[in-house]
Amino acid sequence: MVTTPWRATPVRRGPSDRAAPVSNPLPGSPPLCEHMFVEREATVLHADLDAFYASVEQRDDPRLRGRPVIVGGGVVLAASYEARAHGVRTAMGLGQARRLCSGAIVVPPRMSAYSEASRAVFEVFRRTAPVVEGLSIDEAFLDVRGMRLVSGTPAEIAARLRSEVRATVGLAISVGVATTKFLAKVASAVAKPDGLLVVPPGAELEFLHPLPVGRLGGVGHVTAGRLQSASIFTVGDVALLAESTLISMLGQASGRHLHALAHNLDPRPVMAGRRRRSIGSQRALGRSRRPPDAVDTVLLELVDRVTRRMRTAGRVGRTVVLRLRFDDFSRVTRSHTMPRATAHTGIILAALRTLLTAAMPMIESQGLTLVGVAVGNLDDADAVQLALPLDRRGGDALDVAVNREASAWTNPPSGRGARRASLRATRGRRARGSALSRPVSSPAWSTWRAPSSWR
Ligand SMILES: [Mg+2]
Repeated sequence: MVTTPWRATPVRRGPSDRAAPVSNPLPGSPPLCEHMFVEREATVLHADLDAFYASVEQRDDPRLRGRPVIVGGGVVLAASYEARAHGVRTAMGLGQARRLCSGAIVVPPRMSAYSEASRAVFEVFRRTAPVVEGLSIDEAFLDVRGMRLVSGTPAEIAARLRSEVRATVGLAISVGVATTKFLAKVASAVAKPDGLLVVPPGAELEFLHPLPVGRLGGVGHVTAGRLQSASIFTVGDVALLAESTLISMLGQASGRHLHALAHNLDPRPVMAGRRRRSIGSQRALGRSRRPPDAVDTVLLELVDRVTRRMRTAGRVGRTVVLRLRFDDFSRVTRSHTMPRATAHTGIILAALRTLLTAAMPMIESQGLTLVGVAVGNLDDADAVQLALPLDRRGGDALDVAVNREASAWTNPPSGRGARRASLRATRGRRARGSALSRPVSSPAWSTWRAPSSWR
């Protein structure tokens, strides 16, 4: 189903919009413009696959089509729209999801199938626009500025992108088109499922202000609740408040951020090949207490996902970061910098397990509701591989492990094989008493702040 593009009243432009022509000093030449008026065009596309993992499962297994599908293990990783209709949401515990939707079909995740689908979709993105900024496995910004003569209007380009993804990858993708990245992302979310929504220039606030505050990036349940208790329900309500009022309600960073978004102030350009400072993933766990084994399983899944992404991007990292959120919403971060950069699942997992073990007493007393994993201090895999043999120190268990498994960077095992290999590697290092299984001497604790790469 295609959502009808949102229509705004036509924008009237007055004579003051245009610069006065001045005479050209060269005889026979047309007049020059002293200040060229460049009309603001809605040229930012935000393309986002719908219910990605669940859609891949429905695509590959016809029996799942039209039925409520949940991808996950202990928690819901993705839910099809049929399951969402029953209130099933990502990151919900599977027990709760089953209670909400008793007819749901639960399937285990197939990360390699999702990676393959993502690769194919990003190929379509790159054929569509010269500037593509990937945000995650299933969404990207595309800048189609200056393409009108060759490829048509941004709306036409967006429509073609959607049909090409459908034809070549077999998945539904929603696209928002607007003047800013922020608004294009809001538009694609409003267009879902399987829709296209164009917000014409000049009509941004008319579109944005009636939306609920939850549509603004960075407004979670807690912030939304705080705003609602002050009778602020829509983006328009937020826009009526002074920045200082929002800062006094929500703090400096959130107050400024929301004030800017409510006025569609977002100067960020679409940047191709933007280098990430860290690669991370997180998982909400719900409120039920989990035994240490279950937390370790979540950690393993997160590390598997993060290191897979690192290897795909050809990056290696030295600093591992473990983020925890507790029942009372307090958060802590623990980090450890390794002697060498790596993208190896087993090594990164072992370092994070050490941090997790040290944090167990805190988890047991405070209750864990979210685990996040990130690897920072990133470098290109090629550069580090060249440096490795020159920097070897005898007898270091980590070096031995890294050198033995260096081929994993260029030819990484994937799927269950990788998981088993990483587990074997970890167990082997533990048995040998490697540096990684020793307690970390000086863990860095700090207040949690989500880096921009996580949002
Ligand atoms: Mg998506």
